[in-house]
Amino acid sequence: MSDKHLLSKTSFLKSVQCTKAFFLYKNHYNLKDPLPKEKQAVFNRGHQVGLLAQSLFPDGIDVSPTHVSKFNDSVKRTKELIEQGQKVIYEAAFVYDDVLIALDILVNEGGKWYAYEVKSSLKISAAYVMDAALQYYVLANCLPNLEDFYLVTMNANYVLQDELDVQALFKIKSVKTDAEKNTEFIKYHIQLAKNVIDKNVLPKVDIGEKCFTPYQCDFYGTCWKHEPTNNIFEFSGISKKQAQIWFEKGFKTVYYIPEEELSGNTKLMVQAYKNHTEIIDKPALQQFFKKIKYPVAFFDAEMYAPAIPQYKGTSPFEAMPFLFSWHSMANEKAIPQHNYFYQEENKYAGKALLDYLIAEAEKVNTILVFDTAQELKALSGVVKHFPEYKKTIDKLKNKFVDFSDVFTKLWYYHPQTKGSMSLKKIYESVFGKSIFDDLAIKSGLLASYKYDDYLKETDLFKKDELKNNLIDYCKTDTQAMYDLFVYLSMSIS
Ligand code: SF4
Repeated sequence: MSDKHLLSKTSFLKSVQCTKAFFLYKNHYNLKDPLPKEKQAVFNRGHQVGLLAQSLFPDGIDVSPTHVSKFNDSVKRTKELIEQGQKVIYEAAFVYDDVLIALDILVNEGGKWYAYEVKSSLKISAAYVMDAALQYYVLANCLPNLEDFYLVTMNANYVLQDELDVQALFKIKSVKTDAEKNTEFIKYHIQLAKNVIDKNVLPKVDIGEKCFTPYQCDFYGTCWKHEPTNNIFEFSGISKKQAQIWFEKGFKTVYYIPEEELSGNTKLMVQAYKNHTEIIDKPALQQFFKKIKYPVAFFDAEMYAPAIPQYKGTSPFEAMPFLFSWHSMANEKAIPQHNYFYQEENKYAGKALLDYLIAEAEKVNTILVFDTAQELKALSGVVKHFPEYKKTIDKLKNKFVDFSDVFTKLWYYHPQTKGSMSLKKIYESVFGKSIFDDLAIKSGLLASYKYDDYLKETDLFKKDELKNNLIDYCKTDTQAMYDLFVYLSMSIS
């Protein structure tokens, strides 16, 4: 069997998503989009969680290949270890029906085999079940006495005490029945993938909803580069499902959607796009600005949500603010002053950040936040650990005004956002440039991972650089809010 014909879990899942993506993956790997930093960070976290889960079944032997091309060594070593009576094997590798799989943990108990695949997640998704079904198909045909197949996920109810309790941190659920139900589907898609390899011709596949489901395709950049920018799928205000329906009816750009097919906010957004006009609902904006009482502050928080809880009393993926950015203005004409809170030490920021927020909030009458629900949820999460702050924080919440309402309720809408409600996209559309492009960190998700790097970094210069990058990112969020706020206040005056 040659490498060319071998299917891996990754290539198989690509073929299920799209045969063209599979062909490109096998034959033109270099056309793959660069891996976003966020995705790389997710992989790294998955790896850490996988290593920790090995301690659920200690004394195993890891047969990971020294290089991805050396998978045959892992398959051989797995076979040898099984023959020698090894009870626990990590990254056990098998090939069946030209499909190569590596299983996180394989355990023998009483002569029967139990398979465990670890996911750095609180829930079991449909994509995880599909992963498991492929692995089960291969394993069941390689190990006659395979008894069960489990997915290992993080336990949302686990609360860290003095010591990490690995047994309680993970949840183990059998997915054998679901995997068995999918056997025919798996066989069908393996054959389909093999046909694509044998035919050796790029399959003709239309772009569509599949390019985003279950994940954005790695060949999106290549495949979509000649698509018009007003492509219906690129309009965030239209769900991918709806876009697919319209695409199949021949409405390939937003210009072609008949008026009678549209309703509500989507209709207004599409009309604005077609006419190249902003929506400015002056009475609604005036009402909004009436609520703003000076001094005001623009507030944003960054969260740290480690899969493996780091601080006593916290749970897996618990969102903990570690950085606040605060731009405040004494009056309409004042130059905004910037301030921030940053948790330097590797300990739960809790009390210190609540004290900071309360002290700053006392100096202002309105706190503008982009998407209040998310920030309030995070604050409630902190207060849960310090109930003595509840009354003060509840009172302070009355000062919060959700700036994102202006955009989600279409009191103001810029056609170039194409329905996106992201602060970054709105800023770029309104001002024709981005203030985020030159930053080392450009998303909240990456900020969360970079804070983890910051906590682990021992080189003081690198640590300082990470800290400054994080503060710059959060500061740019509140700066963007301030700039938009001034722009909108001028547009109604
Ligand atoms: S971008 Fe879409 S059509 Fe192109 S390979 Fe990927 S899934 Fe297939």
